[in-house]
Amino acid sequence: MKVYVNGQFVDEAEAKISVFDHGLLYGDGVFEGIRLYDGCVFRLDEHLERLEKSAKAIMLNLPWSRQELADIICESCRQNGLKNGYIRFIVTRGVGSLGLSPKSCTEPGIICIADTISLYPEEFYTQGLRIITAPTRRMNPAALAPMVKSLNYLNNILAKMEAQNGGCLEALMLNDEGYVAECTGDNVFIRHHDTWLTPAYYAGALKGVTRGAVIDIMREAGMNVVETNLTRYEVWTADEMFLTGTAAEVIPVVEVDGRTIGDGSVGQQTLDLLQSFHRIVREDGTQI
Ligand code: PMP
Repeated sequence: MKVYVNGQFVDEAEAKISVFDHGLLYGDGVFEGIRLYDGCVFRLDEHLERLEKSAKAIMLNLPWSRQELADIICESCRQNGLKNGYIRFIVTRGVGSLGLSPKSCTEPGIICIADTISLYPEEFYTQGLRIITAPTRRMNPAALAPMVKSLNYLNNILAKMEAQNGGCLEALMLNDEGYVAECTGDNVFIRHHDTWLTPAYYAGALKGVTRGAVIDIMREAGMNVVETNLTRYEVWTADEMFLTGTAAEVIPVVEVDGRTIGDGSVGQQTLDLLQSFHRIVREDGTQI
């Protein structure tokens, strides 16, 4: 596999960065996870816009145009002969000294890995996930805005480990006020009667690209979808539930904290949305 590191494509084994890169020393940087479907990069412009906004929020100046970034991503896919895959695009503060100050970092670092991704095992798309609420809360926006897709994922990693300790693959994360924010790497949707509800991004959710695509599908189909504050009670008593994410796409949830969602089977609307999502990913992409 060829990996793009700081201006060059190198073999996987040669893809290395400095131990003085502040991305490594402090998690100081931003990233995107992007999908390639049948030779088209899904919603590339939206991913790059989110990357630029994440960078701006942490005062990381990107010296590249959006087109230059897009070219690196497309070229990474071509170099690896990929038609379907998962692209990890990372911008770090760059190489500096051991101190916290980013002033020692003169140039941002850039890494692009075009690979494949293993989703949740197939059985969970037909049978649904069982999840629990993690004790670890989502980051308070006054500490670090959860809308920033930064290299600081410890918050989510701890919640993921708590899910695994509880025998689950995913966990629901609440914000510091107790409202539902998202899962460790996916956004959350629940249905009550004919209304779909999803936490607003100001509740501590990342503005997921998949979340946006699913909301577009719902609105175009005339479905009712509302971005709002959700409590765990509303989740436990929902008729239907699913999660969205670049890697997971649309995955059903059938149990939360021991409470069965709906009748415990995967909802028909979830299955229909997954099908519609698979249709648009092949229409809504940038050809590599
Ligand atoms: N929330 C978090 C914390 C994430 O890391 C991700 C991406 N894996 C998502 C939500 C889903 O966002 P997207 O649909 O853009 O992948």
